[in-house]
Amino acid sequence: MNADPTLVARLPIELPALDWITDTARVARLSQDFAWFSPVLKRQLADKSADIAVRPRTEAEVRAVVAACARDAIPITVRGSGTGNYGQSIPLHGGVILDMSGYNAFCWVRGGAGRAQAGIRLADFDRQARPQGWELRWLPSTFRSATLGGLFGGGFGGAGSITYGPIAATGNVLGVRVMTVEPEPRLIELRAPDAMLLHHVYGTNGVVLELEVALAPALDWIESIVTFGSFDAALEFASGVGSAPGLVKKEVCFLGAPVPDYMSALAEYLPKGCHAVLVVMAESSQAGMENMAAAAGGRITYRKTAAESGSRTLLEYTWNHTTLVALKLDRTLTYIQSGFEPARHLEQVKALERLLAGEVMMHLEFLRTKDGAFNCSGLQLIRYSTEARLDEIMQIYREHGVTINNPHAFILEDGKQGELNPAVVELKRRFDPQGLLNPGKMRSWYALDADADEAYAPSVNADN
Ligand SMILES: Cc1cc2nc3c(=O)[nH]c(=O)nc-3n(C[C@H](O)[C@H](O)[C@H](O)COP(=O)(O)OP(=O)(O)OC[C@H]3O[C@@H](n4cnc5c(N)ncnc54)[C@H](O)[C@@H]3O)c2cc1C
Repeated sequence: MNADPTLVARLPIELPALDWITDTARVARLSQDFAWFSPVLKRQLADKSADIAVRPRTEAEVRAVVAACARDAIPITVRGSGTGNYGQSIPLHGGVILDMSGYNAFCWVRGGAGRAQAGIRLADFDRQARPQGWELRWLPSTFRSATLGGLFGGGFGGAGSITYGPIAATGNVLGVRVMTVEPEPRLIELRAPDAMLLHHVYGTNGVVLELEVALAPALDWIESIVTFGSFDAALEFASGVGSAPGLVKKEVCFLGAPVPDYMSALAEYLPKGCHAVLVVMAESSQAGMENMAAAAGGRITYRKTAAESGSRTLLEYTWNHTTLVALKLDRTLTYIQSGFEPARHLEQVKALERLLAGEVMMHLEFLRTKDGAFNCSGLQLIRYSTEARLDEIMQIYREHGVTINNPHAFILEDGKQGELNPAVVELKRRFDPQGLLNPGKMRSWYALDADADEAYAPSVNADN
């Protein structure tokens, strides 16, 4: 069931001062994200679109839209910049795209914490925090366009997670200001841990207006590429640098051959067929890292200070930018997301490389887990053949004790969340009692709430 078009069409007439987008092509663009990375999601979500989009600039404007939608039972899909890659911000049942990118003020930095409106771009946040000596603890590789609210609602972490873990680690997010979806919307400040009930739930249980996050000291980072002839030597170097407690770092990314061959813009630094490690280190730690590289037989082919890198940063070759860069050259590729066991990660990576090399290309991001263990997660590139084979590959990974955070699913419980914390669903009952936020994405809502509108419930296999 979709939103009632007559009621949707009334919104811009009732609220004429707001920035409405009604042009069908623009609404369709604002209804898409990077779900096209997945051939499965691309097929399932191709025809999904909102009926209208709106770009509020003030809290009063957000409130006016939310109140009107709640009154008329119109679905709302909140959007930051639409860089999510699981169809998180693609509306399944039409309605309104609430584009938060215009609600983007930087509020303050104090005592190692910072606060901003949800629509602020991460790069803008850092631009305003750095003169005060602080920066964000994690930057997804989409930091130029992605918003703080979108990272919280649909992301994991990124560069910086090697020191601070994922966003979900205790102490990273301190509080959120939320608007409920009711005819008279309420404004609620939630402090951690309750604030985390809105994290990575695809904007299904509240409209996040502001976020307060702990920050990291701003440093001058040096970016390097270290290349190797041997897969194992490169892997062990990446793991060794990543776990070295005295080295201050922001990013350690391992790219097994032939992944570096896809980075055509960096070709002069990446000899064909090499294995490469991309590292971003504090200036004081660079010499230590270079000594470790030499001892491991690695060659430093690229070294740039922040000033020398300018706007061209290696971060935009890491995390899912690796996937994007490769997809630009070969649209037949896809990817998987995997989490290794901290105590056995090297052994598991080597075994899976031996088994699937050629079909699965190893890309690893080193990080600390939510509980602080040193580990790596994989964003392996796949030479895609069929959905059945993709499932088989993910199953082989699971059989090796590796967790798969399936990026080919748009329903919360089918992705990395698995079973939802009942408190998340309870919060939805309080903050979005009609189930209007991003309907169809949270299966537990329809299973647990007898009053939930069954018309919005996902089908059993989500294959709509
Ligand atoms: C090339 C590429 C690289 C990426 N690299 C990384 C990475 O390194 N690390 C990482 O974690 N992710 C990564 N991602 C995923 C994504 O870019 C990030 O999670 C990003 O932070 C999402 O921000 P956004 O503003 O684009 O959010 P959107 O995609 O617009 O939204 C994401 C989800 O959050 C919800 N949401 C947005 N704003 C609000 C709000 N104010 N209140 C409530 N809900 C809200 C939306 O409804 C949606 O479900 C990558 C994606 C791509 C395509």
